[in-house]
Amino acid sequence: MEPEELSCRELVELVTDYLEGALPPEDRSRFEAHLDGCDGCQGYLEQMRQTIRATGMLSEEAIAPEARAALLALFRAWKRA
Ligand SMILES: [Zn+2]
Repeated sequence: MEPEELSCRELVELVTDYLEGALPPEDRSRFEAHLDGCDGCQGYLEQMRQTIRATGMLSEEAIAPEARAALLALFRAWKRA
């Protein structure tokens, strides 16, 4: 059975595990497969990396809620397009 394709929303939920290296290999390859074809999620991952560099912390709380809300709004806009 082919692994199901990750949605942008799922990727956002997995991003901290990914950066911690905590994702199982299967999920990790799905994550990277999604990144390959999704500029929005590449940008999100880059934003996360910068946040971690700036704060020295890896946590969901380190992401500004506004940034997260803006990203999810963007995903909804894509789905309407
Ligand atoms: Zn995406």
